[in-house]
Amino acid sequence: MSMVSNIKLIDENGLRIDGRKFNELRPIKIEVGVLNRADGSAYIEWGGNKIIVAVYGPREAFPKHTQNPSRAIVNARYNMAAFSVDERKRPGPDRRAIEISKIIGEALESAIFVEQYPRTSIDVYIEVLQADAGTRIAGLTAASVALADAGIPMKDMIVGCASGKVDGKIVLDLNKEEDNYGQADVPLAIIPRTQEVVLLQMDGNLTREEFEQAIEMSKKAALFISNLQKEALLAKYSRPEEKEEVKEEAEQENHGDDDHE
Ligand code: UDP
Repeated sequence: MSMVSNIKLIDENGLRIDGRKFNELRPIKIEVGVLNRADGSAYIEWGGNKIIVAVYGPREAFPKHTQNPSRAIVNARYNMAAFSVDERKRPGPDRRAIEISKIIGEALESAIFVEQYPRTSIDVYIEVLQADAGTRIAGLTAASVALADAGIPMKDMIVGCASGKVDGKIVLDLNKEEDNYGQADVPLAIIPRTQEVVLLQMDGNLTREEFEQAIEMSKKAALFISNLQKEALLAKYSRPEEKEEVKEEAEQENHGDDDHE
């Protein structure tokens, strides 16, 4: 949040600089199974954000001393590509990326049935290729889809959205300019099935009423995005080439059985 407030972010018709209404989301597109090497993967475009997620595991945790005998550990790594932002991002983790990795990892851990996989790690790589505000929520939303693609049992796919305050108004899903020059940004993520809040932060200031209004708006949007996640998963398993692959794998397995007989 910047203190600069002489930039007009909402026009006389109540429209935002990208033409959206106060409660309107940016366009969202999710694709599942985009990487062949990963156990699960997803790609999300959310407004100007482009993020790819790869999931590995559950696999034996290494080094061994990190193993937990009663559950899986979840390692999330949020990373911004050097070319993802206007000014070249210095490669490697900074304070912000370490914080985001930690809160995303904790959120995912609360949805995954980690006790089913003792001594293992579940590794989640979130690569931001292009950033335009809201990347932590977009990354977490895509990470949940990638976990589902990897077949990892969860209470539900985590989903979220941010809301904030721009030119004195509460608006949904801030873009880069609104994030930079607005008065507040509140990212929220939930587990739809249980209604648990698994990520909630606030940058800037809101009154209690404004805060409640923002949360209400984000929750409603999250349920809409939850459907996009499910549709993306279904789309993968109804793609003709995927069906072909499944058929080939089945045939190979059958041949394998023949060899043993
Ligand atoms: N950003 C940037 N350089 C950085 C970090 C962030 O240009 O080193 C931009 C980027 O577009 C990001 C936005 O600032 O999406 C908002 O960042 P914030 O820390 O609020 O996280 P986000 O909203 O992406 O979850």
